[in-house]
Amino acid sequence: MSEVPILRAPVGTHDVLGPESARWEGLIATFAQFAYRYGFSLVLTPLFEDVGVFNRGIGEDSDVATKEMYVFEDRGGRHYALRPEGTASVVRAFVQHQPVTPWKAWYVTPAFRYERPQSGRYRQHHQLGVEALGTDDPALDVEVIALAWRFFQSLGLTRVRLVINSMGHDECRGRYVAALRAHLEANASRLCDEHREVWRRNPLRLLDCKRDECVAVTGVGPQLPDYLCDDCRAHFAQVTEGLVQLGVPWTRDPRLVRGFDYYTRTTFEFVADALDGAQNAIGGGGRYDGLVERLGGPATSGIGFASGVERLLLALGAEGVTTSLVRRELDVFVVDTTGHDAATTLLDDLRGAGFASDRAYDGRSMKAQMRVADRSGARVAVLVGPREESAGQVTIRDLRSEESVPQHLVARHDLVATLTRLLTK
Ligand code: AMP
Repeated sequence: MSEVPILRAPVGTHDVLGPESARWEGLIATFAQFAYRYGFSLVLTPLFEDVGVFNRGIGEDSDVATKEMYVFEDRGGRHYALRPEGTASVVRAFVQHQPVTPWKAWYVTPAFRYERPQSGRYRQHHQLGVEALGTDDPALDVEVIALAWRFFQSLGLTRVRLVINSMGHDECRGRYVAALRAHLEANASRLCDEHREVWRRNPLRLLDCKRDECVAVTGVGPQLPDYLCDDCRAHFAQVTEGLVQLGVPWTRDPRLVRGFDYYTRTTFEFVADALDGAQNAIGGGGRYDGLVERLGGPATSGIGFASGVERLLLALGAEGVTTSLVRRELDVFVVDTTGHDAATTLLDDLRGAGFASDRAYDGRSMKAQMRVADRSGARVAVLVGPREESAGQVTIRDLRSEESVPQHLVARHDLVATLTRLLTK
């Protein structure tokens, strides 16, 4: 036995291996297809950024920045953070490169948060998202929300609800926060232990608290919708009317403010009712009309959305949707007993013709190779031994047939054509 201790993936992180990874591929490919159809192109940004990107972007006082961010100093003394979410980095890239607007970008990325790991909440999770910058046209809000809704539908999810709200622009929000702060100050002693002090720094965070004590305080007193100016009200009405036109159902949650400071006007979340309450948000997003300026760029409106891959897979599982979304099965397994590696050229032909094909290695016995072939999940085995080879033939064996000898000989030069007939029926 080896004395070397086994190293494991860090707490709160997961390895994803086949066949489970085929479901990831499927989700990502489907999302990429949706993003493409809606006019978004892929953006890639570094996994780590100057810590200021997130502190300025999502807000120094946000829970994510204060408690959950992975921050580190590199060997050159620079202060970096691993990306806790997708938007701030994409907007940093927008400010740096000043692409033509409207600029529509999508991404798939790991995100890192030092959370208490539990089902649906991890220290590394993965997000699929879009960002669209350059206009505050409510049609864009509708488009981004509809993309997400249609994506969830296409996956086969049926128990998903869209909740939506408007936080107003800076002024409405500022007036509301001042009123909320006064209300919280007057009722501070009734707040839950965790939030009895937090309200001073970041009053909006208390709206996220689901504990009875906090809900009893924030359920009365100033309510966000009452503080919206006429423009913000009109914007919200246009967004919700647009959703109605497209048949996307929504409900308003006046408490929905979400965890990052950059949101203005529209905020929304998709809730999967098949999942446990604390981790049932499978996606969310909103408008961030001030974020580009916070990151040093010119005043530019923007809106984005992100969905957690792990949560989506949990929701699919909880709803009993079992399709893996992409087929990742072998077509052909080559069993070579010629003793001189005929498999290499055979496989080259098969793969060149588009068949997913594999083989055994190390010159193993026919029986051992057939065992691997059976385990591989391939639909057929192609067998080549010395006798077949000298006759210019190969044997095709159907690995899924019930017949006792489900195989036949074909000429080597007819192999691809025969498999095309057999496997694409
Ligand atoms: P957020 O960036 O917080 O808006 O998160 C976007 C989406 O990512 C959420 O709706 C969840 O689906 C997912 N998510 C956020 N945090 C985690 C986490 N710690 N573990 C797993 N999924 C997460």
